[in-house]
Amino acid sequence: MQDAALATAPPSRLGRLANGVRAIFRVVVDVALPQLCASCREPVGSDGLCPACWSRISFIAPPYCERLGIPFPYDPGPGVLSLEAITDPPDYRRARVAVRFDDIARALVHALKYGDRLDLAPMMGRWMATAGRVLTADADALIPVPLHWRRYWARRFNQSALLAEAIAKTSGVPVELGALKRVKATPQQVGLSQSARALNVQGAFRVSPAGKAAVAGRRLILVDDVITTGATVDACARALLRAGAADVSVLAFARVVAAVRAPI
Ligand SMILES: [Zn+2]
Repeated sequence: MQDAALATAPPSRLGRLANGVRAIFRVVVDVALPQLCASCREPVGSDGLCPACWSRISFIAPPYCERLGIPFPYDPGPGVLSLEAITDPPDYRRARVAVRFDDIARALVHALKYGDRLDLAPMMGRWMATAGRVLTADADALIPVPLHWRRYWARRFNQSALLAEAIAKTSGVPVELGALKRVKATPQQVGLSQSARALNVQGAFRVSPAGKAAVAGRRLILVDDVITTGATVDACARALLRAGAADVSVLAFARVVAAVRAPI
């Protein structure tokens, strides 16, 4: 399910974006400019992806579950929800996601997180801003899912905060940093079952006393790189709602979509 506008955008648009990105990141990070496709590592000049990998990106476009943003194989009509949204509704109001988590999406996320390809964040954030237009239209602030301070020290940056900054540039919704804290250093979620993931992040997030004013009564968008079961963003949403947030939605770069799901 490709978004026609995004899928057919010529690479030259990315090229222009990359020029802007280069100007920004030259100031911020002193890294060699990317010359390789983030997915297949073919030389690509200044673009983040080569044309072949670009054409394989699986953008999530309607029809999808109004609540969770999970794509449907056919259009069931307006307002129809996925089975997940009905049987196990999240605490956040709704989620929107830019792409399916497949090989290309994984390569982009890993390059951003572990490969020092911070230059990819503006492109990924722009895709997220497009997917989340309905959310940013009436939101007060973007809140990146925080890292525990030890992981932040080790990585030196929070990839979700970089994505949030890029979404802010496109949408005009400001980023709120520091209000939401990760107070428990949780093990990586990889390989855990759905219930183990939920247990793993229980009590892991808290709104700081100083951050209460930035949260109470406000309409917030949580920003994350990948949604797997949704346990992490749901734990964040609960912390924000407990602190008095008026509304919490989720905007992610990629979502694991297990199989083709028929709406019910
Ligand atoms: Zn490629």
